[in-house]
Amino acid sequence: MLVLGSANADLVVPVPHRPGAGETVLGGDAAVLPGGKGANTAVAAARLGAPVAFAGAVGADQYGDLLRDSLTSAGVRTDHLRTSARPTGLAYITVTPDGENSIVVSPGANSDVGDADVDALTWDGVSTLVCSLEVPVDTVARAVAAAAAHGVRPVLNLSPVVPVPAGTLALLDPLIVNEHEAAALAGSPEGLLALGPRSAVVTLGARGALVVTPEGTAEVGAPSVDVVDTTGAGDAFAGALAFGLSSGSSLVEAAAFAARVAALSVTAAGAQPSYPTLDRVREIG
Ligand code: ADP
Repeated sequence: MLVLGSANADLVVPVPHRPGAGETVLGGDAAVLPGGKGANTAVAAARLGAPVAFAGAVGADQYGDLLRDSLTSAGVRTDHLRTSARPTGLAYITVTPDGENSIVVSPGANSDVGDADVDALTWDGVSTLVCSLEVPVDTVARAVAAAAAHGVRPVLNLSPVVPVPAGTLALLDPLIVNEHEAAALAGSPEGLLALGPRSAVVTLGARGALVVTPEGTAEVGAPSVDVVDTTGAGDAFAGALAFGLSSGSSLVEAAAFAARVAALSVTAAGAQPSYPTLDRVREIG
């Protein structure tokens, strides 16, 4: 599996409530954790046991080192992780006691993941490409087209939502969005197919996910869990879904598996540190 996307250092501060405009809130101790939608997705899949390569960029700074180390120690190949002249991307995250988060992202090096990075990719042995949108959409469009040209299945987690060329959407199998993104894009989950993807998966938080194909819509549940921190749940879902597809599962089977993996990820703090191994997923059935 190949993941092309962002790598950010997550600067996480627990807060009693979200600050309003002009307000200063005193929080708890800060943690610096490896994150970014792309790197999270790669780590989630690697922790499950998939062979994964990550393509993206970090800066020549301490946060870049943190991200390289975390990808490498999860078993992710980093030959396509470039060191950029720009600083490593940063995400400033506040987490409230209910486990919900608010995030500001400074993309930095992620902004210059470009055509040359896509053209340098190698596709031998790759069956699935997963992209997300904290890197330039033109780069993602080029990667999706290259994947399709090499017979590789392109999966896009369209988060955050940005306009994507129709020709890119038409290659996706599936397009993944959460329910807020689905509402903004298409009004309804079924409406997503009118945008052109071969299939769509809509994540529904604690309620699991919907799989939408031309044959119909299937619902998969998520186990009921104690929520500690939802940061990176959608990325865990995307990584686990791609793991399932790469292992030969159907889209519905892969989505059901991904909903269990993502549910486990919300039971521990942080994004990457919260991702379960395959043994842990099997423990919960
Ligand atoms: P995002 O994090 O992108 O907004 P969601 O909130 O839909 O996406 O969560 C993605 C997946 O994470 C869900 O499909 C589900 O499997 C899991 N998940 C998220 N929140 C919970 C929760 N409170 N309980 C159980 N699973 C959850």
